[in-house]
Amino acid sequence: MADPESCVFCKIVGGEIPAIVVAESDRALAFRDLNPQAPTHVLVITRDHHTDVGALARADPAALADLVALAARVAADEGLADASAGGHRLVFNTGAGAGQSVFHVHGHVLGGRPMRWPPG
Ligand code: AMP
Repeated sequence: MADPESCVFCKIVGGEIPAIVVAESDRALAFRDLNPQAPTHVLVITRDHHTDVGALARADPAALADLVALAARVAADEGLADASAGGHRLVFNTGAGAGQSVFHVHGHVLGGRPMRWPPG
């Protein structure tokens, strides 16, 4: 689990690592994934370091609400807000076994192609 000093997403928040930022709020930042899995693949993170979405919900529910609102804004900006526009997924991988590789809370906003269920 990365501590804030070595966390790649904290470094993006701090401007030490570049990212293509598409939206931001006082408490959250949205930027394009380096390795996109769909035509739209944007990560939405808190500016503060929290390990995962559950930890964020416990520590700061208002910041989680802000993160989800920013994800909804990104989806709308990408033309994926609702079913008539194709829709989107907001995914929080939580724990290494579920595919989490960066231990700073992030929602994946995915869209622009058909989505299967159940996910792999
Ligand atoms: P997860 O596997 O759910 O933890 O997702 C981590 C995501 O972060 C992956 O989709 C990576 O492609 C993405 N990622 C890792 N480093 C960067 C970076 N420097 N800029 C943008 N996306 C990144």
